[in-house]
Amino acid sequence: MTKKLSFSYSKMGMYKECPQKYKFRYIHMLPEQPKYYFAFGSALHEVMEYVYNPQNAAFPTMEQALAFFKKHWDSTSFDQKGYATMKKEMLGYEEGCRIIRAYYGKHGSSLVHPLSVEMKSTLDMDGLSLISILDRIDYLGEGRVKILDYKTGKTIQREPDQLMMYQKVAESSPAVLNLVQALDPSVTQIKVEQMCFYHLPSLQELSFERSSDKEMYEFWQRVLGVADDIRAGKFEPTPSESKCRWCDYRNICPVFTGKEYDGPSGWGAKNPAPVSAPEQMPKSDEEVLSEKIDRLGEITAEEKKLRQEIVALMNQLGYQRQYATKYQAELKTSKKLTFADRQKVVDFLRKAHLLQKTLVPTQSRIEALLSDSSVDENLKAQLLALGQEEKIEDIEISEAN
Ligand code: SF4
Repeated sequence: MTKKLSFSYSKMGMYKECPQKYKFRYIHMLPEQPKYYFAFGSALHEVMEYVYNPQNAAFPTMEQALAFFKKHWDSTSFDQKGYATMKKEMLGYEEGCRIIRAYYGKHGSSLVHPLSVEMKSTLDMDGLSLISILDRIDYLGEGRVKILDYKTGKTIQREPDQLMMYQKVAESSPAVLNLVQALDPSVTQIKVEQMCFYHLPSLQELSFERSSDKEMYEFWQRVLGVADDIRAGKFEPTPSESKCRWCDYRNICPVFTGKEYDGPSGWGAKNPAPVSAPEQMPKSDEEVLSEKIDRLGEITAEEKKLRQEIVALMNQLGYQRQYATKYQAELKTSKKLTFADRQKVVDFLRKAHLLQKTLVPTQSRIEALLSDSSVDENLKAQLLALGQEEKIEDIEISEAN
C-alpha cells in the first residue's frame, strides 16, 4: 500500500509559490528562519485559545489574558521569534497588548464559548493525510457551523483555497461531527454555513459564503493535482524577484548557485546559509504601502489634534484670524444637523409623502431634501425641528501673504 502524503493548506501554498522551495522545506527538511510575524500571530492565537477554551467554565479577565500573553511572549528570545532587535520585539509585545485590550473592550462583556478552539484534525482522504487547524468553530444549530480564522497581518484579503480547505475539512471531519452530535444527536451531516476571517489588529470580521459543490469539486481536483506533482517529484523552481528576495533558501537554490543542492551532507543541510534579516533587505511594495498608510494615519490623527488645539486657543484669545510666520489660520464656523431618532424621521417623511424623494433617508439625503426648492417650506421646518443642530468650529490654513 502506498504511504499517504502528509498534506495541508500551507504545504499546498508553498508548493504553489515555488516547488523548489517546497522541496527544501519538506523533502530536505531544512527549517526556515524564524519569522517575527509568525511568532506574533502564533502568540495571539494562543491567547484566543486561552480566552475561549471550552473546558473553562469562566472566561479569563483581561488582566489574566495579558498575563498569559506575557508569559508566552517571554518564553522565547527576540531572535528566536525572528525579530531583528529587542526594541522591535518590544514594539511587537506592546502591539499584542493593545490588541488584547481592544478585543476585551469590544467583546469582553459578550464572550460566548464556541464549539471548539484550535481544533487539530488529521483526515485520510484520497491518498492524503490532510492536516489542518481550525481556529474557532461556532455551532449555529441544525448541523450548521461557522468557521472563524484569526488573522494578525497588516492586511486581510480573501484566500479562496484556504476557505475551501476549511469547508472540506469541517464537513468531512468525524471530530467536528462528534462535537456537534454531543450537543445535538440528531445531526448526521455538518454544513458550513459561514466562514470568517477575523482581523485582530483592527477587530474587523470579514464573512464569506460557503463555496458551491462545483467550486469544491474543482478545488479538490487542484489539491489532488498538486499532490500528484509532489509524488512525481516535480520540483522545478519558479523564481521571481518578489519570491526569491524573501526566500531563506536563496543561497543554496540552484537558480542562484547554478548547481543542484547536494542534500543532507552538504553545507546547508542543517542550517541553510543565512540570508540578511528581512529588516535589512529592500522593502517589498506591500511593506512600503503599509508604512505609507500608517504614516498617513499618524499625520491625520496629529492634524486633527492640532486643529482642535488651535481652535481652542483662538476661541480663548477671541481671535478670528491669526498670522504665523509662514501661514495664517482663519476660524470657520458651520452648523451640522443630526437626527438621533431615525424612526421618527422616517415616519414623518412617509406621512409627508417625502420618503420616495430620499429613497434611503441618510443624513446627506435629508440635507438635500432641506435645500430642495420643490419641497414645501412648512414641511422643511417640521423636518428641521426633528433634528439637533451642532456648532462645528474648524480652521482654514493658508499661506501668510
Ligand atoms: S530562491 Fe526562488 S527559486 Fe529558489 S527556492 Fe526560493 S523562491 Fe524558489
